[in-house]
Amino acid sequence: MLTCKDFLAELSDFLDESLSPEERRELENHINACPNCWVLADTTRRTVQIYKEAELYELPEEVRNRLAQALEKKMASKKC
Ligand SMILES: [Zn+2]
Repeated sequence: MLTCKDFLAELSDFLDESLSPEERRELENHINACPNCWVLADTTRRTVQIYKEAELYELPEEVRNRLAQALEKKMASKKC
C-alpha cells in the first residue's frame, strides 16, 4: 500500500499519464482509500488543465516547485 508521500512523489507522472498500468492502479487504489489525496489529485489536475488551456504544455519550474511545496505543506498538516 502506498503512503501519501509515495503518492505525492508520483502525482505529476500520474497526471501526465506516463505511468505503467500497474503503477497507475496502485495510485488509483490510494486515491480511493484516501480522500485527502483524492482532493489533492483533483485540485492539481485542474491546475494543470488551466495551464494547458493557456497553451503552456510544460509547467514552469517555479510553478511546479510552488505547487509541490503547497501540497507538502497541506499534507504535513493532516495525517492519513
Ligand atoms: Zn493519501
